[in-house]
Amino acid sequence: MAAYRGRLAPTPTGLMHVGHARTFALAARRAEAAGGALIMRIEDLDGSRCRPEFSEAALEDLRWLGLAWQEGPDVGGARAPYVQSQRMPWFAEVWRRLHASGAIYPCDKSRMDVERALSAPHAEDDAEPMFPASLRPASDAGRDALNPGSTNWRFRVPDGGIIGFMDAIRGAQRFTAGTDFGDFLIWRKDGMPAYELSVVADDHAMGVTEVVRGADLLLSTARQLLLFQALGWAAPAWAHAPLITDASGRRLAKRTAGLSIRELRSRGFSPEAVLNEDLARLADRSGT
Ligand code: GLU
Repeated sequence: MAAYRGRLAPTPTGLMHVGHARTFALAARRAEAAGGALIMRIEDLDGSRCRPEFSEAALEDLRWLGLAWQEGPDVGGARAPYVQSQRMPWFAEVWRRLHASGAIYPCDKSRMDVERALSAPHAEDDAEPMFPASLRPASDAGRDALNPGSTNWRFRVPDGGIIGFMDAIRGAQRFTAGTDFGDFLIWRKDGMPAYELSVVADDHAMGVTEVVRGADLLLSTARQLLLFQALGWAAPAWAHAPLITDASGRRLAKRTAGLSIRELRSRGFSPEAVLNEDLARLADRSGT
């Protein structure tokens, strides 16, 4: 069996909060328990929202929490993180492979087109509405493209296809393509790969054997399994950590600034308290 290789993959769009930190700590514990290696990868492809100062802050917060990674590019003898914005040629290569296999198509439909085509109104206003199969172009659309150009590209899901996987924390999982999710973005018209493509490309390139991340990404895992399959790559194992909620049962978001690691540090909490203490108490004691 391959040696365990895990990863920490922060997105530097804000200060790290307790929820993310605890998921990262779980990833570090699983890598350590397996005697494996942990990779640090900064997921900074959303240029309009990511900031270098948040990358720096995330690395510094993780070090303060006592989390260490063993692998990244060697910079003067120290391990630097991998940075996705420096890996565009690899993502373009993965686009080419998907394109060559006929798995993807260019999509000029706007969010409004998608909403108009759906019969039921979309409930959550910040989540992506499901792309309906009725908006797919002809099956040969985009076949002669040489590069993604400035258009969105989607992966054509196998309608009714069952995607099952075993989660190390949540047990057996099962999703249906075309019902739980529709054709999903793999490349954006601003010239950047979409999250699903960049994560699969890098988890494969970096030899990741287990992905530990929040349960909010379960549906993404189903999508990503389709990408692994289309690319002919072995998929990693999965462990989705429960989402951490605040005292009133609401999910903690980066916006819940009171529980950022920075804030808790400045209020004198120890790394142990930040990682282990009951969150309601942590919030009370920090005055939020
Ligand atoms: N970069 C993502 C985040 O910070 C995590 C992606 C992943 O673990 O696949 O939410």
